[in-house]
Amino acid sequence: MDRLRILLLTFVLQLAGTLPVVAQTKTPASPVLHYTLRIDANDLSGYTVSIRVYHAPHRFRLAMATHHEYDDRYWRFVTDFHAEAPASFTREDSAVWSITTSGEEALVSYRIRLLPLPPPHFSQRPFLSPVGGLVGDLHSFMYLVEDTHTPCRLTLQLPYGWEAATGLDPMPAPAASEPPLDFLVSSALQLLDAPILVGRLHSWHFVVDGTPHEVAYLSMTPTLSFDSIALVANIQKIVRQTVGIFNSFPYRHYSFLLEDASAGALEHGNSVTIGATAADLSSARPDIYGEIAHELFHSWNGMSIRPSGFTELNYGPQQLTTGLWFNEGVTMFYTDLIGRKTGMPVDDSTRLAHLTNLITRYYRDTGNSVLPPGRVSLADYVQPGPLGDYSASTHLQGELLATCMDMLIRDATNGQYCFDDVMRRVYRHHGGQEPFRDTDIENEVTAVCGCKEAHTFFEDYLYQGKPIDFASFLSRLGLRLQHDQPSAIDRQGRPLPDTRVFSWILRDDTSLRIGITNPNSCWAMAGIHTGDIITAINGLPMHTRSDFQTAMNRLHIGDTALLRLKKETGTKIVPVYITGYSTPLITLTEDPAANTKQRRLLQQWKDGLR
Ligand SMILES: [Zn+2]
Repeated sequence: MDRLRILLLTFVLQLAGTLPVVAQTKTPASPVLHYTLRIDANDLSGYTVSIRVYHAPHRFRLAMATHHEYDDRYWRFVTDFHAEAPASFTREDSAVWSITTSGEEALVSYRIRLLPLPPPHFSQRPFLSPVGGLVGDLHSFMYLVEDTHTPCRLTLQLPYGWEAATGLDPMPAPAASEPPLDFLVSSALQLLDAPILVGRLHSWHFVVDGTPHEVAYLSMTPTLSFDSIALVANIQKIVRQTVGIFNSFPYRHYSFLLEDASAGALEHGNSVTIGATAADLSSARPDIYGEIAHELFHSWNGMSIRPSGFTELNYGPQQLTTGLWFNEGVTMFYTDLIGRKTGMPVDDSTRLAHLTNLITRYYRDTGNSVLPPGRVSLADYVQPGPLGDYSASTHLQGELLATCMDMLIRDATNGQYCFDDVMRRVYRHHGGQEPFRDTDIENEVTAVCGCKEAHTFFEDYLYQGKPIDFASFLSRLGLRLQHDQPSAIDRQGRPLPDTRVFSWILRDDTSLRIGITNPNSCWAMAGIHTGDIITAINGLPMHTRSDFQTAMNRLHIGDTALLRLKKETGTKIVPVYITGYSTPLITLTEDPAANTKQRRLLQQWKDGLR
């Protein structure tokens, strides 16, 4: 235990009454918070949170934070807010409560009302069931706006027989046999980043390089129908491969929180929530281990290595960043590589097949080769619209940029270095420190590569957003690229109608809007733009995305679709003449005339080795 933690533990133990409180100094002491989260087994429609603020300022604010990735706006579900006398409160804003007290302590409490949604839940959202659920993090706890670094203690009051699994540090338990329900938290940042899986949990533990890891599973059934030994062994392999890239951990311990009856996954500093049904785990669904590898990698790249643009805690509008091409795209690059090196099921049979798929997708969504990665990144966590009539993916752009940089470095250093060395440097210089900018990544690539081409690479592809010249990087490893644009056809070889459009409904709105993915599509040619409100197609009313998809499925080449649009000036009917379209066909082949160096570099790349 380091000195800071000993001091913090001493202070929190004093508050817990375990140690005598030291004499107060004349300078006002910083506030310290004691949170209690209580679940009543007889009422699973929500749970209560109380916050006792020691050394409370005369006036302070508590707020529900906004997550940069998924803004679930849980301030909407705060009920029964109460401040015990002598404190009083006002709700200053939707997510902010202002408390005034004349005492040195204040006690605030509120309830989080849970939505009665049928499974599968999104794995990061709180829920409760008779056998357990998920609570904690920014969906549950308010933070002290004026001091996000204040230390705190968390006590869980759970139904009989329930346990808790979380990335938080347990306080020394009164008896080793009792499950830890008291936690020592260094700051609001840590508390709000730590989901807590509760209930009748199955759990397993392993240690990698001296660092403990926990796998906890909340099953909706009493018995497990999958091979838990294989699950834990596979996760352990993923951890070993990942730390092998960076050489050290960004955390002191880590919790994999797996939820039956949930879907999706979300990374945290030293934990992850993942929806994994027993059926998923028994069939070794390829993307389950891919998700685990991806979210674990984010502990380094995303949580420790952070992009500029995010503040630590924020209750205002969702924040945006230009750095997701690195945090997400490079993580995608390693998700595939780690999956192959651990022998986990992956989507594409070989690295070459995977790269072929990536380049095909790059050209299929035209925005990838037109819009700079930073601009695509800004649109990643928000609703459709910011990219106009283009579609693009910062995950895909970033994965391909990492692939090309990896090839550039391998060639320039004669196979001595690869992109792993860039990651190691970025982690060493930015892990847990200053957020990175694109120029910082450029500096690290230049240092590893030792080549002038690194600057040209960033100038062309990151700063100016030019289309990536894949052939120039592939040729360094003796690979040839052929890019054809045949007509898009179905399995019977018949030309497909151009239905490369989608629909969506803005949050807190009811209008169905259309999304254009290619400015050369027949839809764009008809004068329709992303965001137009569509009320009918060929006389059929459009209310839902399902209505829209049904209308698309009925269209054929040569049809004219009559779209009724709702404009500020009134209703407008727009005819769209449905055409066919072309689609990229990418072929990568090994050059028979490749020299010895190219062949050696290609083999090293295929194996993911140096
Ligand atoms: Zn991710």
